[in-house]
Amino acid sequence: PNTKIKMKLEKSLELYTKGKKHLVGAVNSPVRAFKSVGGVPIFIDHAKGSKIVDVDGNEYIDFVLSYGPMILGHRNRVVEKTIEKYLKKGYTFGASTKGEIIMAELVCDAFPGMDKVRFVNSGTEAVLSAIRLARAYTGHNKIIKFSGCYHGHSDALLVAAGSGLATLSLPGSKGVPDEAVKNTLIAEFNNIKSVENHIRKGGVAAVIIEPIAGNMGVIKPDAKFIKQLRELTKDNDVLLIADEVMTGFRSQFGGAQELLGFEADITCLGKVVGGGFPVGAYGARNEIMEMVAPLGGMYQAGTLSGNPIAMACGIATLKELKKQNPYKDFEKTAAFLEREMKSAAKENGIDLQVNRFGSMINPFFTKEKVVDFKSAQTSDTEKFKVFFWKMMEHGVFLPPSQFESWFLATAMTKRDIYKVRSAIKIAMKAVADK
Ligand code: PMP
Repeated sequence: PNTKIKMKLEKSLELYTKGKKHLVGAVNSPVRAFKSVGGVPIFIDHAKGSKIVDVDGNEYIDFVLSYGPMILGHRNRVVEKTIEKYLKKGYTFGASTKGEIIMAELVCDAFPGMDKVRFVNSGTEAVLSAIRLARAYTGHNKIIKFSGCYHGHSDALLVAAGSGLATLSLPGSKGVPDEAVKNTLIAEFNNIKSVENHIRKGGVAAVIIEPIAGNMGVIKPDAKFIKQLRELTKDNDVLLIADEVMTGFRSQFGGAQELLGFEADITCLGKVVGGGFPVGAYGARNEIMEMVAPLGGMYQAGTLSGNPIAMACGIATLKELKKQNPYKDFEKTAAFLEREMKSAAKENGIDLQVNRFGSMINPFFTKEKVVDFKSAQTSDTEKFKVFFWKMMEHGVFLPPSQFESWFLATAMTKRDIYKVRSAIKIAMKAVADK
């Protein structure tokens, strides 16, 4: 452990040490090991509202929010009551339930490009199914993805992926055969020429994009870029897949597509849609979705897909979110955090960029404007490390990586945000003093 960290983390350390015996790196998802920031990875005991508490009793304002799902904060009262009610009915049946139909209606209403939707158990599943569907529909095999965008851990998409791979400085994954990625072409975010070059050669089934990138830190698309991408794909009969696993119901109720004013051919959802339970989804117009079994010949299935408890949690979360309509407030809070980070950085002579979109925000310790994966990687991750631990010491739980977005929740109060401001001031000073 980093001895400079002034926090009580004994119990987390004990669990981490014990956990390493039977769990890989003591975790079930790499980012949770805090490898890029060093020190002891925290183990959580419980959470409520905007706060999360670790096993040593340290309380933090939670900007991780399980990497996005907990948009209402933890254990929202209405959501919790709904889950409790459905728990009493049984956990999984292998036959359909009414909740799946209600959920499908909610999702298709929010995304005009979706006539039909299929629920799965994770973002990874949603995306790998969407790719299979695009290939089935177009009869082509090539797909184009953007450098630094993360679309889950399926073989074909673990190339130039951001997120945990960027955190660990990995270009891709061992164990992925060349054949599995030979049809994956890489383009650069915010660079339409790089997409055009691939499409011109033909054989492309789909372009997949995080319309607001969140897995190399937050990166905004140029308004022109998304418009050009939509036109280019349409003109060439290439499907546009919007991976809204992170942005769906988060950027706006209708996702990044509503906010940016475009319609994808296939949309992938995850995170918020399940409200904290494992739910992913992919959907499209009827003519595309009718390719999926049992209507068509593209096979995709799941024992726990559309799980009744997960559906109940998702429905309650989405309804509550619709009622609260927090998007304008998120924007204001994020703008406030941007101003505070920038002024604290300036006071301390630190080069800083702050990227944000809606309720997603994060700082980069660099002079360069961050518009793609290459510029994101110019951030000084040593400075991020110092910043991260100072924020933790002062009660703010951030993703332990330069390349992850911070998330806002409706449960965050003004008081929470003022507390975060104080922590930012201290943390920026610590970065300067390093
Ligand atoms: N797509 C995007 C845009 C994501 O952010 C993520 C997860 N961070 C995924 C796909 C994969 O989702 P999951 O971790 O639920 O498999």
